[in-house]
Amino acid sequence: MQVQFRGDWQVELCTRPSCGAGPLRVRRDPCRADSWWVGRLEGGTVWHEAASEPCCPFCGEDLATAMPQSAPAGRPSSPHAA
Ligand SMILES: [Zn+2]
Repeated sequence: MQVQFRGDWQVELCTRPSCGAGPLRVRRDPCRADSWWVGRLEGGTVWHEAASEPCCPFCGEDLATAMPQSAPAGRPSSPHAA
């Protein structure tokens, strides 16, 4: 499944192995300092978090940036290519 987002959404993963949150999309709130929007990749609910760093909306654990696993080697990919 190839999902692309406009703007500055980035994909992050919950760092708790037992959490079933899966990939999450995270975006800094442009209107407020230390505020974040966090939602499922599939859409649906988007949570607003007031914190210096975004956390998992399901278990509260830290998030880690998801590394693209299918990017062709040797070809730099731009997150703004879309
Ligand atoms: Zn979690």
